[in-house]
Amino acid sequence: MNTTTTSNVLAHLRNVQKRYKLGDTEVHALRGLNLDVLKGDFTALVGASGSGKSTLLNIIGCIDEPDSGEIFFENINVQKLSETQKSTLRNRKIGFIFQSFNLVPVLNVFENIELPLLIQKEISKKERDERITNAINEVGLTKFLHHLPDKLSGGQRQRVAIARALVTQPSLILADEPTANLDSDTTHKIIDLMLDLNKKKGVTFLFSTHDEKLMNRVTRTLRIQDGIIIS
Ligand code: ADP
Ligand code: MG
Repeated sequence: MNTTTTSNVLAHLRNVQKRYKLGDTEVHALRGLNLDVLKGDFTALVGASGSGKSTLLNIIGCIDEPDSGEIFFENINVQKLSETQKSTLRNRKIGFIFQSFNLVPVLNVFENIELPLLIQKEISKKERDERITNAINEVGLTKFLHHLPDKLSGGQRQRVAIARALVTQPSLILADEPTANLDSDTTHKIIDLMLDLNKKKGVTFLFSTHDEKLMNRVTRTLRIQDGIIIS
């Protein structure tokens, strides 16, 4: 099998298998999945509930490990990395956005966005503040710096999550059903924001979604069924 990847390939997956044990039974979540995520992609992963979307995103994001197959991220063989190297890759190269926002409730907007940068010890306080200010500005939340998440609307919370994903300047943002908890109007605004980041700043996005509003605006759609991409 040809395992070389060209420079515009961010993530390269071949024959990826993942099983979960559930008591006595085994769930075959990914069944030999192949995928290339290209730089600049704005791609939706679409499929029924249970088809393997979250599993796939978690594996690309080094949150979970496959049982077999190959995964390269920017030409790095992820399976050869130690746990520490994988955490570093995850922290620096990948941003995550979740359906339920996953903000830390006791931290304000600024502090939530600051979190992933605190791990990067070589970044000075000055640079950190600059990056956070820029990210907050980018998502239009400058007036809400000191607000706690529970004082924000769903759309505003998702903006904080987007800023937190952006602040490390990652190569790829993985978004697991990012609009599932948002009303229609807010959904369109969040999609506008992500599309803008994609077009103007070249940020690569891979979504999982059921949402037609999002499916209608991506540049590429991948259909996943029973742990395999079918088109
Ligand atoms: P989707 O995101 O498309 O709804 P998932 O990737 O969450 O699908 O799940 C794929 C399959 O793997 C499902 O059958 C699900 O029940 C199973 N699964 C996912 N995560 C786990 C887990 N941690 N333990 C056991 N089974 C799991
Ligand atoms: Mg899911």
